[in-house]
Amino acid sequence: MKISNAELIISAAKKFQFPEGPFPEVALSGRSNVGKSSFINTLLTRKGLARTSQQPGKTQTLNFYFINRRFHFVDVPGYGYAKVSKSERAAWGRVMETYISTREQLKGVVLLIDARHKPTEDDLKMYDWLKYHDLSVLIVATKADKIPKGKWDKHVKIIKEDLQVEEEDTVILFSSETSYGKDRAWKEINALLYS
Ligand code: GDP
Repeated sequence: MKISNAELIISAAKKFQFPEGPFPEVALSGRSNVGKSSFINTLLTRKGLARTSQQPGKTQTLNFYFINRRFHFVDVPGYGYAKVSKSERAAWGRVMETYISTREQLKGVVLLIDARHKPTEDDLKMYDWLKYHDLSVLIVATKADKIPKGKWDKHVKIIKEDLQVEEEDTVILFSSETSYGKDRAWKEINALLYS
């Protein structure tokens, strides 16, 4: 995919801020530090577009990137930080629930999982929640360069078994260090956006 244009158009904290218009979108989700910003920057060939390592306790927003003036990437805050208050977390949970359950432009979700480790409880909860809302999910196992190639199949198998990945969903390996998996990731994201 040739990226001629990529810009952050809004960091939305509330539903009324979500961009209108007919453009399809995919959301990107994963626990903090999984490599989500690196994944976005590698796919878009833009070094500092998505900010790496979001600070704990910062205002949580859905960051809408408009790509080639045709579709959106929606960067969802990394989960796994416990540093926000209970009430803030509950309020943010309601914004996310609204987004996931009512956003018509949302065609699927990229769920990033660290390829080196077993999925966490939060990863399992996130996948189940997305499937409860009938969303298609592309699972991207990040940091593949940190595992020997001979073990790749085993790690993918563990992810599939632990998450009980459904038949229609795909798991791919990815590395932002080497760009391994970039073409495949675009192919799968296109399938989410336009099928
Ligand atoms: P985010 O919090 O999910 O946005 O994660 P970042 O993209 O900021 O990455 C977290 C850390 O993991 C950073 O130190 C990255 O350099 C590193 N990282 C991200 N992707 C990869 C990868 O594919 N391979 C390796 N070796 N390190 C990675």
